[in-house]
Amino acid sequence: MRAIVVGSGIAGLAVALALRRVGIDVTVYERASQLTEVGAGISLWANAFRALDHIGAGAAVRAVSLPAGQCEFRVREGHKVVTSFNTASLERQLGMAPALAIVHRADLVAALAQGLPASTSRYGYECLGAETRGSRAIVRFKGGHTDEADIVVGADGIRSAVRAGRLGAAEPRYAGYTCWRGVCRRPPNLDAGYFAEWWGRGRRFGIATLTGDRVYWWATRNGPPGGRAADERAAAAAAFHGWADPVPELIASTPAEAVLRNDILDRPPQRIWAVGSVVLVGDAAHAATPNFGQGGCLAIEDAVALARHISQRGNTASALADFVAERFPRTAALVNDSRRFGWVAQWEGWFACRLRDICFGLLLPWVGTRHVLRYAAHDVGPLQHPVASV
Ligand SMILES: Cc1cc2nc3c(=O)[nH]c(=O)nc-3n(C[C@H](O)[C@H](O)[C@H](O)COP(=O)(O)OP(=O)(O)OC[C@H]3O[C@@H](n4cnc5c(N)ncnc54)[C@H](O)[C@@H]3O)c2cc1C
Repeated sequence: MRAIVVGSGIAGLAVALALRRVGIDVTVYERASQLTEVGAGISLWANAFRALDHIGAGAAVRAVSLPAGQCEFRVREGHKVVTSFNTASLERQLGMAPALAIVHRADLVAALAQGLPASTSRYGYECLGAETRGSRAIVRFKGGHTDEADIVVGADGIRSAVRAGRLGAAEPRYAGYTCWRGVCRRPPNLDAGYFAEWWGRGRRFGIATLTGDRVYWWATRNGPPGGRAADERAAAAAAFHGWADPVPELIASTPAEAVLRNDILDRPPQRIWAVGSVVLVGDAAHAATPNFGQGGCLAIEDAVALARHISQRGNTASALADFVAERFPRTAALVNDSRRFGWVAQWEGWFACRLRDICFGLLLPWVGTRHVLRYAAHDVGPLQHPVASV
């Protein structure tokens, strides 16, 4: 059996690893001219590490990740600590470590790619669409190249061309807030392993330490979609003026050209990820707002589940239907939970925020842990060894 994967992001690479593990020949087509990722961090929860272990990439990703240790939630622009805990308690409940670790995205895709032979990936191929013909699936690329296989996996992100061919090219849904991200040197007053989100009114600031004495930060602000500034670092600094230390320092010490800005988007859950021999995974299937830090983690879970269903069923169409039946409820719940959580987190009225912050202070240790565990405690399950029918 041969598979084509479109997109060489977290989902595409994880799918390629998983499919190869069950004996399927894989080619990954990527639009960019080389393996690439944005200059930001990503948090990976225990469920992602379990899935990575199932595809043999756990050790490589652990080697470039920094486990979170002390976690803190603050309000009033970071001036009031609401709750603080160590991840050791979560690890006990999860029965594994790390409960949460942070990795630079470039390090993550490099760690995944190192498990694939170089001949697996073809760069500089922009997919225009994919369709099923009989029992085969055909992919078309810009420039006229086509390729066909028994199965095509669309792992080409939130604006997926594979998805557009199946479901139409509808724009993703704007969540009402934009997000700056950056990576800078870790200041001496910030301990390695620190992980926090600090809330204000219509604004949030997140801090997570990375390997190599680096810090990944993210900063959200309400506003209309499509806003851009000539100097995004200056715009972020103005939006977070007066916040507790080290917020101003983290922004100021990030090179101006390295500050990223993205509007926060998702897609309402739609079950139609598989048509014939073409299937969607990761953000192409279920793009979520990043409030629970689970979008990439669920993409890795998808890879394991997809490979397991394909290896268990000789018939591609029924394997894909089983895959969607397994994955849709969990991913749809995350999309909806995350959107609701982000809506509350981005409130900006003075009274509403005070009330919210008090309630969060009282409830967070219990409700927050339950919510974290709902996603992080999941084990997508092991892969079977290659089966004869594949
Ligand atoms: C601000 C922010 C913070 C986040 N934080 C976290 C977090 O902490 N933890 C977490 O788990 N998730 C997080 N996420 C979500 C996470 O980034 C995504 O869920 C994850 O990147 C999805 O991976 P993917 O491979 O499906 O898509 P992508 O990462 O978008 O990769 C798609 C790949 O396909 C390629 N491609 C696109 N179109 C084509 C085409 N037509 N032809 C060929 N190739 C194509 C792209 O170049 C890219 O390489 C965050 C998201 C945002 C926006």
